[in-house]
Formats: sequence, C-alpha cells, structure tokens
Amino acid sequence: MDCIFCKISEGKASANFVFQNDDIFAIRDVHPIAPTHILIIPRKHIPSLMELDGAEGSALISKIVSTAVEVAKKVSLSDSGFRLVWNVRSDGGQTVGHIHLHLLGGRQMKWPPG
Ligand code: 5GP
Ligand code: ZN
Repeated sequence: MDCIFCKISEGKASANFVFQNDDIFAIRDVHPIAPTHILIIPRKHIPSLMELDGAEGSALISKIVSTAVEVAKKVSLSDSGFRLVWNVRSDGGQTVGHIHLHLLGGRQMKWPPG
C-alpha cells in the first residue's frame, strides 16, 4: 500500500520521531505550520475517523489523545497550551489517508480556523 505514514511506521521512510510504542508514534510534521507541529499516528492503517469501528476504535482514539497530551508535556507546551486537530476527508482538509492527530503549539492560535 502506498501510504507514507505506513512507510514511516515500518522504517521504510525517515521521520523525526518524538515518541513511539507498539501502537502509536509521533513525528515532527515535514511542513510545520506552527513552531511545534507534531503528528500523533496509530501504526494501524485506518483511512480516516469515519472508518473507526466500535469499542476498538474508541480505545484507539483515547490512546491517541492521551499520547498527544503526554507529547505536549514532553515538548513543554503544558503551560502555554496547544491545539489538537483532526482533519477528516475532503472538506476537513485531510491530505494523508491514514488517521493522524495534529498537535500544534508555540504561537497563539486563531479562531475560527481557516
Ligand atoms: P492532513 O492534511 O492529512 O491533516 O495532514 C497531513 C500532514 O502530514 C501534513 O501536515 C503534511 O505536512 C504531513 N506530511 C505529509 N507527508 C509527510 C512526510 O513524509 N513526513 C512527515 N513528517 N510529515 C508529512
Ligand atoms: Zn497507512
């Protein structure tokens, strides 16, 4: 399967890792839109949030969000704060078809987002 995040997970493409375990890894985004821009990614290939199933899916989302919070602490964003973003399918602006959560920080975020 031609999926960049699967390739990174399998060590077939390089990335700047911030965290990894058996289920999840976190890497610096190659085109950062904030001083800190990290992607939290499950190793399992799931195209978008719309393909998540039942209890297993809920457990995975919970792990991804708690990993994002742990990574935020690790990169010293606890006090200043941060934003977590899921882009879902076309209108959501999703460009890579493998679930990932954006962790953005290091500057004041705007609302509404673009
Ligand atoms: P999306 O637009 O799908 O929500 O987010 C995909 C993100 O993956 C984008 O911010 C993009 O810059 C990032 N990205 C795409 N290809 C690579 C890559 O090969 N390495 C890394 N580290 N990030 C990537
Ligand atoms: Zn994948």
